[in-house]
Amino acid sequence: MTTGNKYHGKILRHVFGPVPSRRLGHSLGVDLVPYKVCSFDCIYCQLGSTTLKTIERKEYVPMDELIEDVKLKLSEKHVIDYITLSGSGEPTLYSRIAELTQAIKNITDIPVALITNGSMLWDAEVRRDLRNLDLVIPSLDAGNSQLFSEVNRPYPELDFDMVVEGLKIFSREFKGRIWLEVFLLEGFSDLEQTVEEIAGLIDDIKLEKIQLNTVARPVCEKSARPVSRERLLMLTKLFRQPTEVIADFKNNADIFDDSVNENDIINLLSRRPCSCKDIADSLCMPYNEALKIIEQLLRNHTIISEEQNGIVFYKKKIYK
Ligand code: SF4
Repeated sequence: MTTGNKYHGKILRHVFGPVPSRRLGHSLGVDLVPYKVCSFDCIYCQLGSTTLKTIERKEYVPMDELIEDVKLKLSEKHVIDYITLSGSGEPTLYSRIAELTQAIKNITDIPVALITNGSMLWDAEVRRDLRNLDLVIPSLDAGNSQLFSEVNRPYPELDFDMVVEGLKIFSREFKGRIWLEVFLLEGFSDLEQTVEEIAGLIDDIKLEKIQLNTVARPVCEKSARPVSRERLLMLTKLFRQPTEVIADFKNNADIFDDSVNENDIINLLSRRPCSCKDIADSLCMPYNEALKIIEQLLRNHTIISEEQNGIVFYKKKIYK
């Protein structure tokens, strides 16, 4: 069974969506690195454990294939608010990200965003490679080195101060928009004192807004537990720049897409665990249709289910 989107017989392996995103409206994802190449191994990662923890930058996927997939997807005339460089890992490890951004901009006016863990911004070459992006969403989940090690479990050579300094320099140099994500966890980073430490570091980072996030799906380690919405709202007050709690995207019946098939669902679940409602919302399909396909995929062992806080989540089964 394949896991890409079908396009006139060609499987699009490197693009994903467009899916309604909590932050970006209708977002067409582009996967720049294979599962799961990352400089971190966060305890809250929804993708599972990092299989290749590295800071080596290279062309993990041939750039021509990425551009071809983006072109084919754009020709389907979907509503797309952002083309989002992301991936099943850390996208700034992709060495040709600057050329790729330019190639996308040569074929469309749709803004290009990047979701990154921010771990490589100490490298001047990486900062240069990102300068043509419209929006960069880096993250900072800790205010000190110990919490950084516990939560993000970085590649050994990544020093906390170096990562924070990289973020600060990038925010001064970058001409586009920056939204900073702070992922908070109960028992790790939900105390006022801990959050104040993070807020203190962010004071020196130039950005448009801060987005507080927490666990909403099955994650890598059981110790990574969600912070309640009420507490997150209270914690927004500790930041001195505009701060919001990321809200869930609601299903929109007007944009129901009846071309969605099981490959789209497998593709979605290979990137993050989702409930049936998440799948219906993300792919703009009726809940019952999503459920029918889920049941079929469970029967043939393509996906597995896991319960968290009373909600059943589905994810793609990984064969080792
Ligand atoms: S959450 Fe992001 S940065 Fe952390 S391990 Fe997963 S892919 Fe890497």
